[in-house]
Amino acid sequence: MLRKYGIYAIIGLIVLFALLHLGFPPEQHDTRTTATTFLGGSAFLLMTCAVVLSTRAPILESLFGGLDRMYQVHRVVGVSAAILALVHFFGVPKELPAGVDPVANVLVPSAPLGMLGLIFLVIGLFVALNRKIRYSFWRPTHKIMALVYLLLVGHFFTAPAIFVEQFSPSGLLLLISAIVGVVCMLYSLFGMNKRTALPYTIETVNAMERATEIVLKPTGAALQFKPGQFAFVEIQGKGWSEPHPFTISSAPDEDHLRFSIKVLGDWTRKVREELQPGATVMVRGPYGRFDAANATEKQIWLAGGIGLTPFLSKIRAMQPDDSRQIHLVYAAREEQDAIFLDELKRLAEKLGNVTIVPVFSDEGNFARVDMMKQKLPDALGSYEYFMCGPKPMVNGIMKDLKGEGVPRHRIHTEAFEFR
Ligand SMILES: Cc1cc2nc3c(=O)[nH]c(=O)nc-3n(C[C@H](O)[C@H](O)[C@H](O)COP(=O)(O)OP(=O)(O)OC[C@H]3O[C@@H](n4cnc5c(N)ncnc54)[C@H](O)[C@@H]3O)c2cc1C
Repeated sequence: MLRKYGIYAIIGLIVLFALLHLGFPPEQHDTRTTATTFLGGSAFLLMTCAVVLSTRAPILESLFGGLDRMYQVHRVVGVSAAILALVHFFGVPKELPAGVDPVANVLVPSAPLGMLGLIFLVIGLFVALNRKIRYSFWRPTHKIMALVYLLLVGHFFTAPAIFVEQFSPSGLLLLISAIVGVVCMLYSLFGMNKRTALPYTIETVNAMERATEIVLKPTGAALQFKPGQFAFVEIQGKGWSEPHPFTISSAPDEDHLRFSIKVLGDWTRKVREELQPGATVMVRGPYGRFDAANATEKQIWLAGGIGLTPFLSKIRAMQPDDSRQIHLVYAAREEQDAIFLDELKRLAEKLGNVTIVPVFSDEGNFARVDMMKQKLPDALGSYEYFMCGPKPMVNGIMKDLKGEGVPRHRIHTEAFEFR
């Protein structure tokens, strides 16, 4: 769901810092120092926001509208912090204040710490934003950002006369944010993964056309989730490496947890070719706010390929007394690729309030707004939209819907990528 409270909170934090720092600057600051330390402080606050977002806290999901959105904001905030830090570095006066003994240089160790932090920040960002870098390599190297954060904390704590020797309200704000940031950083490095990990056993591995369905049985407590949510799946055993996110395709009241996994790279191929029943899996979650339960009565669900999974869970969970009118537009290359289509048709017939609209590109049909205009019984503006699928499809439909006057807050998307 589209939520902007979190973004407003970040903007509010920077505005508060501006008011405190520019409104009550330390006395010995000239204008240039005030301006450049404002940029440096803002960079640090944004870095803190990025660290806080990496904790995947449920309350933050509510403020930002889901973990995928949080990671998008995390990325934007990280890039903005790096830009501000660079401007701060090049802009801040390099000469020592008048009367300072160069032998007892007060800028040591603040300046080298800041410089080191900036170098690692730029390297870390290059790695983080480079999509060619494999995720299994990307993930451990991204942890370099924890070191960057600590270096920057050291940089401003040892900065001469700016925050420590002379108390300033903006310095206090930075101090509080540093404490919050370090706690969050330690939690996301050492505590987060233990928080919601539940053990499961693989019961079945079903190889389907272009996807693999894995069926998991809980060995203890079962995961509580809402249709449309996702979880991190970590297969225990040599060679399985990091956890991967997948939308839960089963309904919450089923005894088993089901995931439908498209082969995209090494890990997903290994699932299809090597995963055996009996393997132990840790499942962490649930995450995500792709929730259609409380939206308007008339809904359009748009699924592209494996983007069907959140809708699969929703339909499997639907009760006969559900009053919503739902059109599920299911786009695939050809009928064979449209996994679970038969089950969807069966469920739709049984439920009565769901219409399945399969669209196959090999037959020259595409999920497009002009097609929807023809097939839907009511005007486009009377529906609420939920979309999950390839980025070009989702972005194209979003643009066209907005062009048709559908307000942005009635369009909800789920991204199958964090980077
Ligand atoms: C919220 C969410 C829900 C998803 N639901 C489904 C689903 O129901 N079915 C499905 O088939 N796919 C789903 N995906 C995509 C799935 O996570 C990736 O396809 C899978 O992790 C790719 O792993 P790989 O090593 O085989 O491929 P790679 O080629 O290594 O990765 C392909 C891309 O997947 C992403 N990725 C890879 N590994 C990870 C990881 N450990 N954590 C996060 N992202 C990673 C990266 O962006 C990478 O560029 C979902 C992704 C997200 C973010």
